Amino acid sequence: MVSGNAARLTVLSGPSGVGKGTVVAEVRRRHPDVWLSVSVTTRRPRPGEVDGVQYHFVDDDEFDRLIENDGLLEWAEYAGNRYGTPVAPLRERLATGAPALLEIELQGARQVRARDPEAQLVFLAPPSWAALESRLAGRGSEPPAVQERRLALAQAELDASGEFDAIVVNDDVERAADELVSLLTAPSPGLVPG
Ligand code: 5GP
Repeated sequence: MVSGNAARLTVLSGPSGVGKGTVVAEVRRRHPDVWLSVSVTTRRPRPGEVDGVQYHFVDDDEFDRLIENDGLLEWAEYAGNRYGTPVAPLRERLATGAPALLEIELQGARQVRARDPEAQLVFLAPPSWAALESRLAGRGSEPPAVQERRLALAQAELDASGEFDAIVVNDDVERAADELVSLLTAPSPGLVPG
């Protein structure tokens, strides 16, 4: 059981289109007690997305207010939209002694590391560049210009994988989910006796 372990913040990052959402969904299907932070974003909902489930969808003014009120642990602009992690629910969760998971992009992962050096940073990598390209193209919900922008960002994000504590290759969703569960339940290095 994930919740039986020492409280730790785990950040899953990796390029857009690598399948972070799918791997996290698989982890939560197996372990419904895995707590995932719900981010705020200024991006418009995609078809099927529900406010408060995938994201809290907010306008620019509300996002500005959250920043001004120190309501976000981290935030970043990504492909023309802003995304951030609400700090209050995360603090509440960690205070119970239970682990928490963030699924965010690279700039945000760096901010979390700066604020919490104990956080565990996990990079989800595609099995190949070609696999990532075809996934982004296959998403089909976005215009080609947006896909191009995400691919350029993805290249920079891949280059940063060395900054992470662990790399999980998403060659198979179930296998990648297994690895992420092991990492989530691994004791924090600071808490290992001796
Ligand atoms: P999407 O628009 O595809 O849902 O998300 C775009 C990127 O924003 C993804 O890489 C996703 O992980 C990242 N993202 C989602 N929520 C947050 C957040 O709260 N903070 C940051 N920094 N990135 C986020």
